[in-house]
Amino acid sequence: MRQCLMLILLSLAGIQPASAHDVSAPSSIAHYTLDQVSKRIHVVHGTQDLPSPETRGFMNNPAAILTDNGVIIVDPGSSVEIGKQLLEKVRKVSDKPVIAVFNTHVHGDHWLGNHGIREMYPDVPIYAHRRMIERIDAGEGDIWIKRLMDMTEGAIAGTRATTPNIGLEGGEELVLDGVTLKIHHAGPAHTDSDLMIEVVDDKGLFFGDIVAARRVPNSDVPQDASFKGTIVAIKAMLERPIDIYIPGHGQSGGREVPEASLAFLVALHASVTKYYDQGMEAYEMKDKVIADLESYKDWNNFAEMGRVINFVYQEVERENF
Ligand SMILES: [Zn+2]
Ligand SMILES: [Zn+2]
Repeated sequence: MRQCLMLILLSLAGIQPASAHDVSAPSSIAHYTLDQVSKRIHVVHGTQDLPSPETRGFMNNPAAILTDNGVIIVDPGSSVEIGKQLLEKVRKVSDKPVIAVFNTHVHGDHWLGNHGIREMYPDVPIYAHRRMIERIDAGEGDIWIKRLMDMTEGAIAGTRATTPNIGLEGGEELVLDGVTLKIHHAGPAHTDSDLMIEVVDDKGLFFGDIVAARRVPNSDVPQDASFKGTIVAIKAMLERPIDIYIPGHGQSGGREVPEASLAFLVALHASVTKYYDQGMEAYEMKDKVIADLESYKDWNNFAEMGRVINFVYQEVERENF
């Protein structure tokens, strides 16, 4: 009875619970809308909170590109359940089969949902940077499963690391059911395995996590970053004829989305370089760099700036040898 009352209250509030027995997951992908951002592109803009039992691991921006006879999925989330729930949402805008999946990089919040897509479409090709496939083959998939199992206290249980089967390296142009996709890789940036996907007709670009809107770049995984490479990649994409930029996390939008991340990275690099040139070690400059970047204190994960500064410092040190 209590549960029924809870369901009624949730539905009055416009919140759809994942299922009748699962009112404890207010943030799972089931409660998010699928937003149309261009003619063909639909995005579920996920939470910026880190994976937790409440979110069931969901935190990225899974998306669908609709073709005339099919659906292309980009980054289907972090579990078998999320991948399947994404398909349920997509069914509301297209009844066509999934013809391809793309993964933007090796971080598990973006691709563990491959399992859910493959359960429904066992033969669907999954594209990713070949370096991502190498890293998963070397065991990184299991590490991501364990990390997300721990963070969500088991909410992603049953998810298997489902490795992409078509390796890309950037520079390819693919035409899938009449929709032209340009694949970009600008060298190591957010990781060494990033792909950015340009949907040419829609003037849309999937940035992966090279841009995360209003989020400190690489704050969760600074060990994977080339901060300078991320600056290079964002600048390169700002030269493309793009109207709508879809970040790996946070809201999609126009040029202001990548320009904000770029300004943050340029300011961070300049600040660390300034104190490095004065002979400071990373621990000595930490508070000063954070003060220099004070105007970004509302960005997600700003509390992780200390770790990020350590890695930017190491990169600046390498540049100076
Ligand atoms: Zn990432
Ligand atoms: Zn991510």
